[in-house]
Amino acid sequence: MSVDLQKKNILIVDDEKSLRAATQLLLEEEGYSVVSADCGTTGIEIGTSNEFDIAVIDLKMPDVDGIEVLSNIKSKFPNTICFIATAYASYETAIEATRKGAFGYIPKPFSPEELIYNIEQGIKQRNLVLEAERLKKEREERLLEIANEKSRLNTILKTINDGVLVINLDGQLTYFNYAALRYLNILDFKIGDKVIQKLPNEIIELYDKIISSEKFLIKTYTKQIEILPNNELVIEAAVTPIANPDGSLAGIVIILSNITQFKKIELIKSQFVSMVAHELKTPIAAVQGFINIILDESLNISDEQKKEYLQRSSVRLKSLTDLVNDLLDISRMELKTKQREIENVNISDVINSTIQFLELEIKKKNITIDKNIQENLPSIKADINEITRVFTNLLSNAIKYNKDDGSIYITSHQENNFLIIKVRDTGIGMKPEEKEKLFNEFYRAKNEKTRNISGTGLGLSIVKKIVESYYGKIEVDSVFGYGTTFTIHLPINQN
Ligand code: ATP
Ligand code: MG
Repeated sequence: MSVDLQKKNILIVDDEKSLRAATQLLLEEEGYSVVSADCGTTGIEIGTSNEFDIAVIDLKMPDVDGIEVLSNIKSKFPNTICFIATAYASYETAIEATRKGAFGYIPKPFSPEELIYNIEQGIKQRNLVLEAERLKKEREERLLEIANEKSRLNTILKTINDGVLVINLDGQLTYFNYAALRYLNILDFKIGDKVIQKLPNEIIELYDKIISSEKFLIKTYTKQIEILPNNELVIEAAVTPIANPDGSLAGIVIILSNITQFKKIELIKSQFVSMVAHELKTPIAAVQGFINIILDESLNISDEQKKEYLQRSSVRLKSLTDLVNDLLDISRMELKTKQREIENVNISDVINSTIQFLELEIKKKNITIDKNIQENLPSIKADINEITRVFTNLLSNAIKYNKDDGSIYITSHQENNFLIIKVRDTGIGMKPEEKEKLFNEFYRAKNEKTRNISGTGLGLSIVKKIVESYYGKIEVDSVFGYGTTFTIHLPINQN
């Protein structure tokens, strides 16, 4: 059995053979595609396995009656237009057939014209039903689409990092997302609440400005707001008026962005710049002072004194050069543009040469050095200048921050794949809160004990960067007033 999709499909269910055949022939000549069934059972079978446009069902059949066939087809395909054909139409059966969904009656016997007229009416009805069905489906899809679109938008707004608040002209909240609550440090906003007075003053000012102006412009006003003190939470609020379709003002939308990190970086940057400037200024001023004295003929100073001033200038200039080199090193390490010369480095040798290099300072403070270095320590693959740098910084700190007649203990041994090197001093030590910032650039503990010790605060930050670049780590242990121990773990085999 084939169902033609172009032509309208008609099912004829009738047990009277000659009538069935004649009807089929007639309708086929009219251009319909026709299938016929010779009893009620077959009628149900065919009519419920394919959707027909029209079904013409005989009321009285020996096996199953036409009403039964009708209701079966209708329950499967409610849009099939069904006619009951009968010579015994009664008021009661008409009512029942209509209730079961019949579109009409075709009294038997019928003329070809009568049949065709009825079928055409049925086809019109079928088209109307299908069109209504299509529209309904389309509307439902559209509604679904809108609902999806809305929920999608909602999801986006709810999940973005920026806070969003919409406030109407009465100052009531009409929309918000949770990021907004987070950034405002507020817990309990609800839609409809009059929230405007609970917002930061900066936002209230912008709101007032927008709603009190006679003609508003769709323009965004921004303000930075410190929500939590000490720059713990800083946001930028962007406030924009929203217009009604008629152009009048509807309310405002506030977008809140978290700019705490930017603020922190800004602060670090300006601190860095002012510290660098400060560190550069002091030695430059000193050198300038010495030169002025030497140049001032009226002072009449001896050659010997001049020489001394020049020597002191030279020392100052050297410290300036060191500082600039430190800064350059830090920036090269950060930009990773530093060229390395990797070779086998013997830690014991580096420690010895560093001690030698700092001999003068060690003697000045009368410091005792106590070394305990495991014999035959394996060498490590590294740039010797960088490793020397690490120990120069650690030892110079151990000297600088030591007491007169103090001691420095240096130990080194192997533990699995690591060289463990400890530098312990009997110096001023540090407080726990100082310990935390120790490795920050330019950090210098400020207390009565460090007041007269000069330095840039860059040494340890460089040490840490170098150690970490060799996949090692550095730790510090300290008791204020008693001394400090730095421990370095350096992998022997960096693979
Ligand atoms: P630089 O080393 O650049 O000349 P610096 O010694 O001040 O200057 P760091 O080596 O980075 O800078 O040390 C930072 C701070 O840590 C020091 O100013 C000091 O307060 C503290 N510190 C470092 N080493 C010790 C130590 N061994 N004992 C006590 N405090 C120390
Ligand atoms: Mg130092």
